Amino acid sequence: MLRLRFIGLSAALLATTMATAQAQTAAPPPYATTKVEGTDNVYIFRFGGHQSMFIVTKDGVIATDPISERRPAAKAYIEEIQKITKAPIKYVIYSHSHYDHIAGGKPFKDLGATFIAHKNAKARIVALKPDDVVVPDQVVDNKKVIKLGGATLELLYVGKNHSDSTLVMRLPKEKIIFTVDWIPIQGIQFRGMADTYVPDIEEGLKKVIEMDWETLIPGHPGPGGKQTGTKENAREELAYLQDLSAAVKQAVSEGKSYADAQKEIKLPKYEPWPNYNAFLPMNIERYYDFWNRGI
Ligand SMILES: [Zn+2]
Repeated sequence: MLRLRFIGLSAALLATTMATAQAQTAAPPPYATTKVEGTDNVYIFRFGGHQSMFIVTKDGVIATDPISERRPAAKAYIEEIQKITKAPIKYVIYSHSHYDHIAGGKPFKDLGATFIAHKNAKARIVALKPDDVVVPDQVVDNKKVIKLGGATLELLYVGKNHSDSTLVMRLPKEKIIFTVDWIPIQGIQFRGMADTYVPDIEEGLKKVIEMDWETLIPGHPGPGGKQTGTKENAREELAYLQDLSAAVKQAVSEGKSYADAQKEIKLPKYEPWPNYNAFLPMNIERYYDFWNRGI
């Protein structure tokens, strides 16, 4: 999902700001690789508006999401890895089952990588047989630890949230987590929160906040192209969902319609976040169904 960014500015100022921004950021490269600050072997590969983490060790590379749905990101991803190391790419780990993150892994498979995903992701892939998604070789239930060339990566399942197959990948030594689509850097949830489990997502956020980590790598850059966040982003996302939930619960208890709830509920604290105007009404509808029908 591409996140459009609008900030509450006057029309004139907005026009000036956009012109300046375009001049400064004209033609951003379609993809780029950055080393995560404070580490010597953890990288982020970004292609368009999607990103994934990879870890380089002397014995091989642990890659994550191929992010290649209907585009050649995997080829670029592999070339970027091979500019850094000639060590083999040993693993590709899926963040969750959604195709925009996991499609296009075949070039990694052709190099001999082992694919790993949560067991529910494998079940979904086997059932739906999406085009161009490599079926995982190994699955994770609640926890699996990958050790390679001195690196330790935990694959943790904290329950249902943005999907029923989301992993939290944690590097305990570096205090980094990579988890996708449910803990954005200041983000309203995507559209109508399809495949999202309410209220489980709030419980999952509390579990992640309790974990020992400092740096968040999400599946999409945040406002201004920011590629990493902090625990504060997880706390803010939990607060957003709790505020949204409470406001919708109130509207339902007052007998308001979907349309009135969508029109009247405002959460000004989150107005500067990308997609506030576009996605808040759809997020409201998701919570309306939860409080009105228990679904
Ligand atoms: Zn997703």
